[in-house]
Formats: sequence, C-alpha cells, structure tokens
Amino acid sequence: MIDTTTLFEIEDAHTSGAYPKRPTALLRGEGVYAYDEQGNRYLDATSGQGVTALGHCHPAITQAVTEQAQTLITCPEAFYNDRRAELYELLVSITPADLNRFFFCNSGAEAIEGALKVAKLLTQREGIVATKRAFHGRTTGALSMTWTPKYRKPFQSWLPHVTHIAYGDIEAAREVITEDTAAIVVEAVQGEGGVYPADPEYLQALREICDTTGTLLIIDEIQAGIGRTGKWFAFEHAGIVPDIFTMGKAIAGGLPMGAVCWREAHGQIPRSTHGSTFGGNPLVCATSIATLTTIRDENLVQQAAENGRWFLEQLEALNLQSVREVRGRGLMIGLELRGRVTPILKALQEDHSILALPAGLTTLRFLPPLIITRDELQTIVDAVAQVLD
Ligand SMILES: *Cc1c(COP(=O)(O)O)cnc(C)c1O
Repeated sequence: MIDTTTLFEIEDAHTSGAYPKRPTALLRGEGVYAYDEQGNRYLDATSGQGVTALGHCHPAITQAVTEQAQTLITCPEAFYNDRRAELYELLVSITPADLNRFFFCNSGAEAIEGALKVAKLLTQREGIVATKRAFHGRTTGALSMTWTPKYRKPFQSWLPHVTHIAYGDIEAAREVITEDTAAIVVEAVQGEGGVYPADPEYLQALREICDTTGTLLIIDEIQAGIGRTGKWFAFEHAGIVPDIFTMGKAIAGGLPMGAVCWREAHGQIPRSTHGSTFGGNPLVCATSIATLTTIRDENLVQQAAENGRWFLEQLEALNLQSVREVRGRGLMIGLELRGRVTPILKALQEDHSILALPAGLTTLRFLPPLIITRDELQTIVDAVAQVLD
C-alpha cells in the first residue's frame, strides 16, 4: 500500500498534465459519500462527472460486477452474448418510438464518433452543424463539434465541415441546415457549457427543419440522459424523437461505456464500417442492466424530477446577490455566478465537505447521484447560502 504523500508525488511525476487537479485523493466511496486519504467524508454532488447515478459502490452494481467477473468478462460482438441481448431489450423498453438500433462503445466521445459515422453512412452527406457552448468530447471528430476554443483550437486544422451556430437560435438553424447537411448535433441540456436547458420549441423546430432537409437530428444525451433530468432522456421534455442519440456517463453506473442509438426506420449500417474491441462486453452490459433496472424499479427518474425541482426552488429562494441565475432540469443544476467559480468550489469542499463541479469559468454545477435525499440536498442548499453570501 502506497502512503498518501507518495501517492501525490507519483501522480504529479507522471500525469499527462492535461488535468487541473484538486489536492485530494479519493480512496473509497459509499452511496452519496466519498472519502479522502485522511478519512474525511465528502457529500459527492459530482457523481464523478455525472457517472455514479446510483452513488458509489451501490450493492446492485457491486453484485453485478462481481457475478459477471466470475462468469465472462469479454466477448467481442463477433459472437452473441446473453448480457448484451438482455441490455438491448432493456434499452428498447426505455427509449421512445423506434429507437431500437444500438452501437456499444466505451466512452462518451466514442459514442459521438459513432453517431457521426452513422449519420455519414445513412445520409452520404458531409456537413455537420453544432452549437456554441457545446461539449461533445475530446477525440478528433467529437472535438470538432465541441465549442470551447481552449479545447479545440490547437487541433482546429484537422476538423473540416463543421459549422457552429448559437444554441437556441432557430433562425440560424434554418439558415445553415441544408440538403448538404448530414446532421445537427445538440445537447438537450448543455452541461459543460454552463447548464443551459433547451426550450422545447427549439428542439421541436430542429426536428421540423431536419425533416424538411433530410438532415439527421443527433441529440447528445451523454450527461443529461439516464434519468438525470427527470425523464429517461432529456429530449423527452420537448416531446420529440431524434434520429440518433448518444449515451455515456451514467449508462453503466460507473463502468466505462458509451452507446449510440438510432431509429429502426433508418436501418443498419453496412458491415465492417465500424467496430470496437471492448464495446458491448458482458461485464459492462451486466453493470448497465443493474444500473437501469435499479433506476426503473426504485422510481429514480420520477424522484430526480421531484427532488430536482425542489432543489432548484430552494436555491432560487436563497435570492443570493452573487448569483446571476439558477438553471437546470432535474438533478442537473447550474448556478451562474457573478464571479469565478473556482474559489466557491474550494470553499464548498474545504469548509462544507461538499464536492461540486464547474461548468465553464463562472457556473457552479451540481450533478448529484439520483439517490440523493432531500436532507442531503438541504445540506447543499445551506452550504451554498453560506459560501455565496
Ligand atoms: C462528458 C460528455 C461527453 C464526453 O464523454 P467522455 O466519456 O468524457 O468521452 C460528450 N458529451 C457530453 C454532453 C458530455 O457531458
């Protein structure tokens, strides 16, 4: 066992440098709590970036991982597998309309890459439209649609055929989406960009524009999906059905998994046009099944809707001078501050043992596990009131 000072030194000596890091090591987790190297307990309102929908080490997940690890861990899609079949059926039961075709992969960015390839294959078109403030991941294709110049600029010359338009601007969408556009990619609630929920009318207008031009509507549900916003998928708030949508983060309750889903009406993609070594392996499929059935059986989507609304109302009722706006849907909540978010995150962690996230430079973001109780949310509200007073 490495002693804790050494742990920091080793990481610093070898990390890529890509990550801004907090001087805290998380060594253990249970439910909504995570524990650091000194045994301090934190209320984890990050869910590890929206991943642990059921909290840390939920018994259903631990059991699924353990049992499947003793049965079969890997099985490429060149073979059939019982867990994968079961997961397909479960996903079909929670997706609307004929969203019945899936490609399984290992991360959000990979799901976005997959969605782009599917769109290209289905339409034989080049053009992609994305939105300002969007975040779709860090691989080359996904990055080309991500907005933040800090992430994208050093690689800009690699990324053709993408036009960015303002999020929510229907006229701009009408102007740039044409019969040469393969797809428009959009988050139903922008996460990383500052927690901006789309107006239902915006997504409805995009649906109509796509229908008119034969463009595919891709919704990125990697952060907002799997119950977080109080619906299984955030596009459901607008009552629309996308052609393609992506999943990641919470889909397997903590294990790395991504998925692309598209409408049966569009058919399959041609043989050998895509693939993944680890994608859809039995271990993550079993864990995803445990995650989704627990969310369904414990009614956590409804609970996220109700507790999220209550949480947002409590935060608004604080009426804090230093807060410009409280935004969000379900348990995906952002407070846009008048100042920088970094000192606020530090104060929440150090003075109140609460872990929260930034979304851009000035938005404080909460992505608590869906199992969080009102008492625990109240603890966050009280801490916010003190820290932002
Ligand atoms: C996190 C995120 C991604 C990227 O997922 P990774 O697993 O980090 O590659 C893509 N889109 C959205 C909306 C995200 O929140």
